[in-house]
Amino acid sequence: MTATTHAFQAETQKLLDLMIHSLYSNKEVFLRELISNASDALDRRRFEAVSNPDLAAEGELGIELVANRIERTLTISDNGIGMSREELVEHLGTIARSGTLEFLKRAGDGDEASPDLIGQFGVGFYASFMVADEVDVVSRRAGEDGAARWTSKGAGEYALDDADRAEAGTTIRLKLKPVDGEAGISDFADEWVLRNVVKKYSDFVSYPIRLTIIEEAVAPEGGEGDDASDAADATGVTPGEPTERRVDEPLNSMKAIWTRPESEVEESDFDEFYKHITRDFQDPMLRVSTKIEGTFEAKALLYVPSKAPFDLYHRERAHNGVQLYVRRVFIMDECRELLPEWLRFVRGVVDAEDLSLNVSREMLQQDRQIQTIRKHLVRKVADRLKQLSKDDAEAYLAFWAEFGPVVKEGLLDWEEKRDRIFDLVLAPSTHHATDLTSLSDYVARMPEDQEAIYYIAGPNLDVLRRSPHLEAFEEKGVEVLFLTDPVDEVWVNQGPVEYRGKPFRSIGHGEVELGSDEDKEKAKEDLEKKEESFSDLLAAMQSSIEDTVKEIRLSSRLKSSASCLVLEEGDLSPQLEAMLRQAGQAIPERKPILELNPDHAVVVALGKRFEENPTDARIGKSAKLLLGQAILAEGGQLDDPTGFAELVNELMAETL
Ligand code: ADP
Ligand code: MG
Repeated sequence: MTATTHAFQAETQKLLDLMIHSLYSNKEVFLRELISNASDALDRRRFEAVSNPDLAAEGELGIELVANRIERTLTISDNGIGMSREELVEHLGTIARSGTLEFLKRAGDGDEASPDLIGQFGVGFYASFMVADEVDVVSRRAGEDGAARWTSKGAGEYALDDADRAEAGTTIRLKLKPVDGEAGISDFADEWVLRNVVKKYSDFVSYPIRLTIIEEAVAPEGGEGDDASDAADATGVTPGEPTERRVDEPLNSMKAIWTRPESEVEESDFDEFYKHITRDFQDPMLRVSTKIEGTFEAKALLYVPSKAPFDLYHRERAHNGVQLYVRRVFIMDECRELLPEWLRFVRGVVDAEDLSLNVSREMLQQDRQIQTIRKHLVRKVADRLKQLSKDDAEAYLAFWAEFGPVVKEGLLDWEEKRDRIFDLVLAPSTHHATDLTSLSDYVARMPEDQEAIYYIAGPNLDVLRRSPHLEAFEEKGVEVLFLTDPVDEVWVNQGPVEYRGKPFRSIGHGEVELGSDEDKEKAKEDLEKKEESFSDLLAAMQSSIEDTVKEIRLSSRLKSSASCLVLEEGDLSPQLEAMLRQAGQAIPERKPILELNPDHAVVVALGKRFEENPTDARIGKSAKLLLGQAILAEGGQLDDPTGFAELVNELMAETL
């Protein structure tokens, strides 16, 4: 057959125009695309040779880069399956890939594609035109005799001709555009540039990628000779003449550690790999290796760092997520779509077998395979953490200290299986002086008639531990959890929250009802009786502090303290209110309820005083003092500390 020219299919031409005029700065991805094509072709040759040994290659399967610094060309060769003349037309003259068509649709009618689109998508072979003025492909299909050449400048047409190639495979020669820093065109014939780009995107490609540099020979240093031929005599090198230098080692490590059976990898190699990808200098705390099998396949090698990164809570700036590979080819760093936010500290690698290489960030979010991987990873990581909590309490405590609050963010997500997260939660409780308890242990300790998981939330554990709200619970031996992280205020307020069918209930909200139905009934009657006799006193006190409290009532939760503040069922806690106000939300003013302990000496004395003289000024003052005490006991701040001190002093002066 002879030389022919062909017009590109219309879509192909449009794509080429986008590539050629692209201002996209990450132009180095062209090499990723060509190397991954070569790697695919090598895979296919190896695969087809299994059933047809005639197709096997003579030498080692691999990828050769030749950078010619003199002619400014870069050649990428492989001894893979190769393409026949028809296949060259079919694969390089038309766009058959659905991913690329999708790309074109998104790029719209503008003549410049958005940078992110090219970078994340990958547009395959055509990306070469971002860095080359002319692309020349010589290919020979394994099992066939002749070779063919495909050449194009990317403008309108391509040429086909017969060619020679000693062996099956493909050689792609790029006539490189001039280096242009502003346009993101580096010197792609430079050894160090090539090393870096290969390392970044193709380090784990499973075939060796070798590099040869062709450049002008330089005169050997300190050479005595005064002309070129003298130097050539001594070293075999003629200054100015082309010389070939082959880099000794492959540019890629080929160590895709996650593809090897776990039992064959040293633990220290796993740690080394973690440090390599995270640049963390400490060993990881935990490793999770997992495989997805079935309709599509993926492998993941994940790690939990031993220390939280300093930017863990700077959502936007934080480095998080795992690296995404498709068949050992690097696609993107920090792929957040693969894990939920509450696992953002998990690092590692996910390598999918069947995912399209042409994935954009927007597409990832909807991609069903990505969703499946994500679900699988969440389950695996949660299971592994749960296992750690059983096997090594101390290590788990260290984990919880670093990442507990982030894990609890998962409770805010309605999509998550909350019990799975609750299974991981630790909290201080009245049951332990210093240790933390798991929720499952709490529930296991609950007496049969206990209906709820009781908690008290606030920023300061010491204050919570001394809270008057605890008194009735302590007396009845009912365990209460202390929730001290800001995120706790949020999830406990997010509608009805349950763990293993038990609702969470704040001990500072609403009425307290403890014990058996009988106990509750009796307590209620008791309180009603007392309320009758105290009702006038309570009304008198209320009038002196009605700006601050909604109501004064008798308490069934106090045993030793005289007063405390409580909120109505469903009211936000003061801390959460403060957080929401800080976030700019308009939160209406809300007044708490002041509860008094009818059995406390002060309250009893007040009752007597009121009977003697209902208009005694000390009644209003006492109301203010009891309110102040209740605020202080919560770790709150008094509106008028000086006024409070004056009242205390007045009282002291009277009694001393
Ligand atoms: P993709 O790799 O996603 O299919 P590309 O644009 O990168 O898209 O390549 C288009 C097609 O060209 C490939 O599917 C393959 O059939 C063929 N091809 C490209 N490079 C090579 C190569 N080095 N060896 C054999 N075939 C190749
Ligand atoms: Mg490709």
